[in-house]
Amino acid sequence: MPIVKDFFIGLSNNSFLNKTAKEVGPMFGANKVVAGNTIKYLIDTIERLNNKGITVTVDCLGEFVVTEGEAIQAKDQILEVMYAIYNHSLAGHMSVKLSQLGSEFDIDLAYRNLREILLKANEFDNMHINIDTEKYDSLFDITQVLDRLKGEFKNVGTVIQAYLYKADALIDKYPELRLRMVKGAYKENEVIAFQTKEEIDENYIRLIKKRLLSAKNVTSIATHDDKIITQIKQFIKDNKIDKDRYEFQMLYGFRSDLAEQIAGEGNNFCIYVPYGDDWFSYFMRRLAERPQNLNLMFKELLKPDILKKVGTIAGIFAGVVATGSILYRVLKK
Ligand SMILES: Cc1cc2nc3c(=O)[nH]c(=O)nc-3n(C[C@H](O)[C@H](O)[C@H](O)COP(=O)(O)OP(=O)(O)OC[C@H]3O[C@@H](n4cnc5c(N)ncnc54)[C@H](O)[C@@H]3O)c2cc1C
Repeated sequence: MPIVKDFFIGLSNNSFLNKTAKEVGPMFGANKVVAGNTIKYLIDTIERLNNKGITVTVDCLGEFVVTEGEAIQAKDQILEVMYAIYNHSLAGHMSVKLSQLGSEFDIDLAYRNLREILLKANEFDNMHINIDTEKYDSLFDITQVLDRLKGEFKNVGTVIQAYLYKADALIDKYPELRLRMVKGAYKENEVIAFQTKEEIDENYIRLIKKRLLSAKNVTSIATHDDKIITQIKQFIKDNKIDKDRYEFQMLYGFRSDLAEQIAGEGNNFCIYVPYGDDWFSYFMRRLAERPQNLNLMFKELLKPDILKKVGTIAGIFAGVVATGSILYRVLKK
């Protein structure tokens, strides 16, 4: 349903709504997919997952960074979380976005921030640092920064978005890096990316298989798609791929039963845990992928105290969400 997807992707890019949402705090079910905004809550969440044999990658939310001060603040928050993971002897690493480190206005600042994070990560048992991929516009920056850092650090990796025609070339370029394989979460045009679900799924499966056979480092298979997971598990078995060469990943709050089942079968499993106040953009992208997630929001909207709590601001969000829901319900018919 491209109109619904475009609607929520549009909202995810709206800086006014993002800023306002940050002030209000997680609403409409976002707290089910974001692990709070205090270190204590985050650490409890990681401990709970670790006790189930699941490791984590933490994303300190926040993409709309426009000043040097904000970029440094974002870097400091990432360092704080890294320290907490290390200090509590937890199994976890970090996922960062170059945009939160300042790349949108000063790529060298983002590079310096990331390098500082990597230097600290070396002191914390060589904690892995993953650079999440964002809109296609930022891919060049990511590869530039990665190329500058990968000689100096072994614990840095990134994400391959299978909807991009370029994905093949990126897999060939980085066999020695730990890579996460995803379908791709942004809206890209037909000049650079596959458009239909069938094409994207087909390319995704093909690329994971290619990577599993050629990689010199861990491949993270990040999807909630049980059919694809089943196919890949069979491929891994047929090709006798060592357990240490791959892991499965899912987002916090989605398909937890399936995640626990896959981990229980003896596979390495990692949950991507978003953390912090900047929940809106992340949440809107999840709605764009799967409008069924609107059910989460509807349940919250029906709670009588929710609108009273934050008045007008909640009203604006309720209007936005209701419009998306109506679009989804009308177009589904
Ligand atoms: C750990 C992780 C990290 C990511 N990092 C990035 C990144 O750096 N950059 C980026 O662009 N994207 C990233 N993504 C998002 C990714 O690109 C996809 O947009 C997102 O994962 C949705 O695609 P999917 O593979 O889960 O399957 P979809 O195509 O969304 O779903 C396929 C099928 O799976 C089943 N399914 C999916 N979700 C559910 C559910 N909640 N309940 C029941 N059934 C369900 C349904 O049958 C559905 O038809 C990441 C995703 C994960 C899991």
